[in-house]
Amino acid sequence: MGKASRDKRDIYYRKAKEEGWRARSAFKLLQIDEEFNIFEAVKRVVDLCAAPGSWSQVLSRKLYLPAKLSPDSREGDLPLIVAIDLQPMAPIEGVIQVQGDITNARTAEVVIRHFDGCKADLVVCDGAPDVTGLHDMDEFVQSQLILAGLTVVTHVLKEGGKFIAKIFRGKDTSLLYCQLKLFFPVVTFAKPKSSRNSSIEAFAVCENYSPPEGFNPKDLHRLLEKVGSPWGGEDQDCSSGWLEGPNKVYIPFLACGDLNGYDSDRSYPLPKVADGTYQSLDPVQPPIAPPYKRALEMKKASSQGIREPEKHSLDS
Ligand code: SAM
Repeated sequence: MGKASRDKRDIYYRKAKEEGWRARSAFKLLQIDEEFNIFEAVKRVVDLCAAPGSWSQVLSRKLYLPAKLSPDSREGDLPLIVAIDLQPMAPIEGVIQVQGDITNARTAEVVIRHFDGCKADLVVCDGAPDVTGLHDMDEFVQSQLILAGLTVVTHVLKEGGKFIAKIFRGKDTSLLYCQLKLFFPVVTFAKPKSSRNSSIEAFAVCENYSPPEGFNPKDLHRLLEKVGSPWGGEDQDCSSGWLEGPNKVYIPFLACGDLNGYDSDRSYPLPKVADGTYQSLDPVQPPIAPPYKRALEMKKASSQGIREPEKHSLDS
């Protein structure tokens, strides 16, 4: 799809470039905030799966920059934002970047070190695996990323804190809801206006982190496995194990963002400049080392007839 036709077909893509966001996802976090006020009293935030960085930009613009520009700001008192991704990303003011894997147990330690041993008020996770188009498979891999995010949460989030995570709606949504409910008394699944209706994506907004009494993060997986099994977990709503039939769980689901605002599934006419043409803007910040970079290099090399050097394993 050409740049201009993408601008026409995807209004949030175009608006993101106009407003200087690195990705259209910025609008999703902004619209979640409009509904849930997630940034209130937040001083320490973790942005999991952050590249190319539009959510980190939102965090910087909403939390760090206003505090820095405030007349009574003090150096050691500015909000701390730690962003983690497998991919490197270009710098953002007020954001500490960590290149790492959120499924790695050491990730939480790194975050806590950046917070000087203190805990976070908010953890956001927009993680997504490479989507295959096979819904069950995509939903499963996505849920593994959320569980990795929840593992980080159990180490770094303070009691009363919030967790926002991208989910893929599917047949295991009730199970995921019940698992999150073990840790958060208020869990809402939200669909921001900027997230296409045609996509199975939604966001779990989890409020007031309250782990079960005596909870040890080492027991997380054992606890989660109990939910949805016939012997049940702690929470009555979800405990009987059979999440269908009379025990069916009803998940609070909320559309958010200005409902009269732009519809992400519609095409909008392109604004023309003085000479009557349309001027497409370049992306604000393309990813600096995307996973597809090597594939493109290989394709280019093969079209030029250059052979890849052979690789030898160390023990050959
Ligand atoms: N929130 C980002 C923004 O606004 O720019 C977009 C995030 S993008 C949809 C998903 C990201 O998840 C990718 O950058 C990918 O590298 C990252 N990711 C996937 N699996 C990960 C993992 N195990 N650890 C860290 N990052 C991961």
